[in-house]
Amino acid sequence: MSPLSKLSEILSTLPGIGPRHAERLAYFISAKNGAFINNFKKALEEVHAQGKRCTACRAVFYSTNPDIKSCLLCKSKNRENGLLIVTDTEINRNSIEKSGVTNGRYFILGNTIPMTDADASRLPISELINRIKELSKSGLQEIILAFSYTPEGEHTGEVLKKKIANVCKENKIKISNLGRGFSAGMEVEYSDTDTLKHAFKNRFHL
Ligand SMILES: [Zn+2]
Repeated sequence: MSPLSKLSEILSTLPGIGPRHAERLAYFISAKNGAFINNFKKALEEVHAQGKRCTACRAVFYSTNPDIKSCLLCKSKNRENGLLIVTDTEINRNSIEKSGVTNGRYFILGNTIPMTDADASRLPISELINRIKELSKSGLQEIILAFSYTPEGEHTGEVLKKKIANVCKENKIKISNLGRGFSAGMEVEYSDTDTLKHAFKNRFHL
């Protein structure tokens, strides 16, 4: 396999990158000078060496200190422990944070469940349940399932709701979904501040 094909193949495994797009990127990278390649390599190595998963919310964060196990947001004492927002990606969390709509805690699932599948084994359910139990000791009252208003997002919310129903009932925690002012097909990641504010304000309890 030529170096270009090898690079194309790796790039095509990235989310949202099809084979033709991957080939175009591989040619683009091949035409770049040594400084670009060195910076690119360095950035990849640093992301790999310093990236870790927060033990509380499962978000990827960066630190060179091996003793640091949780992200800045989880470590902050200025967050509201009464509210836990469960979403699929760090990018969704960042969009929600940017909108300033909530000051709650987060849990990042890292995945959604395809429509054809009811199997939740790809989701970190036991970690989520542990997080709920832990936060319930410091006043957790409500969990907001913040998934995109797409068939896959809806389906993931449905499956998840069943998995956490018991622990929520035992600890008197409400489960809510984002409001549907959030129009169909709308993805959390691409929603503007007003849309997210509306969706949070009009959330409904399940
Ligand atoms: Zn965290």
